[in-house]
Amino acid sequence: MNDFIDQLKARIFEGGQITFEEARRLIEIEDRADLDHLLKAAWEITFHFHSNQPAICSLVNAKSYLCGEDCAFCAQSVHFNTEAPRYRLMTSEEILKAAKVFEAKGIRDFCVVTSGVRLTDDEFEGILKIYRRLRTETRLNLDGSLGFLNKERVQKLKEAGVRRVNSNLQSSREFYPKIVSSHTYESRLEALRMLREGAVEVCAGGILNVGETREDRIRLAFELKPFSPHCFPVNILHPRPGTPLEYQPRPEPEEMLKTIAVFRFIHPHADIKLAGGREYNLTEEEQQKALQGGANGLIMGGYLTTQGNPINEDFGLLKRAGYQIPKIQNADSCKPADDQRPLPTT
Ligand code: SF4
Repeated sequence: MNDFIDQLKARIFEGGQITFEEARRLIEIEDRADLDHLLKAAWEITFHFHSNQPAICSLVNAKSYLCGEDCAFCAQSVHFNTEAPRYRLMTSEEILKAAKVFEAKGIRDFCVVTSGVRLTDDEFEGILKIYRRLRTETRLNLDGSLGFLNKERVQKLKEAGVRRVNSNLQSSREFYPKIVSSHTYESRLEALRMLREGAVEVCAGGILNVGETREDRIRLAFELKPFSPHCFPVNILHPRPGTPLEYQPRPEPEEMLKTIAVFRFIHPHADIKLAGGREYNLTEEEQQKALQGGANGLIMGGYLTTQGNPINEDFGLLKRAGYQIPKIQNADSCKPADDQRPLPTT
């Protein structure tokens, strides 16, 4: 298996790609030593294509709950009786305040997220005003996750200063109908096509441990390939009371680490970020392993309906994983790591 992994790694270094069958062989790894070798190779691929600056971003849940869709993992669906906070679009003042807190902490990427698949015209105009303020009053890179967009809306977002737009595929084409019935996988693909056509950077990933198989996980990664996402957020289900998946057991951490490593083989250029559910499903040591085994960044400062680690703790985690943390934080408790990332010890 080690030779096989090394051959794939060498091919990727030369600009080649792995096939679905090869990814399937990787995702079926069971042996502990093989898994360690896979993680080490994934880390080397990461370091080959990325610097030791971690890809980190923060988000604000600008409109919560009130979504008519029925995604089984989501606490914001009106179909489920959850305790997710319910509010309409936040004011620009509130969003600006949140953005400035993250900016002061040294996080440069900021994503405005709204629940639901379609904003009303009034909401969309409100979002544009918010971005215009963010552009003039902060130095943040502006991203958005704003439901399904048409060409015109993508263009308007770009003009308002938006750099990157998120639209997750969530899972494989085959598995998706088992967790969502209110819209189709095709509509998700179409949303991604709109982003590509509009020439904004694409952020697209998915969620693990919602009942999918290993094969579904690599199918998700291959579905994303035509869109060459800049950013590939990997969420792991954090079961929310009231949702259909509230009693879903935690996954085996090794399965999650292996999946992230295989994602790196499939998407060598993407920023693979550990996202929602990482703190619930993985210990700090396991998150560090993921950051030394394919992932090269984090979503920090909390998620849509769940809290995250304190930001300083996450900077410490990144530093221990060998990443150079943002300068503004260096004056604080965390010193920058060496320029060279250490090889993982696994
Ligand atoms: S994931 Fe998005 S579309 Fe699905 S229920 Fe939640 S907010 Fe709505």
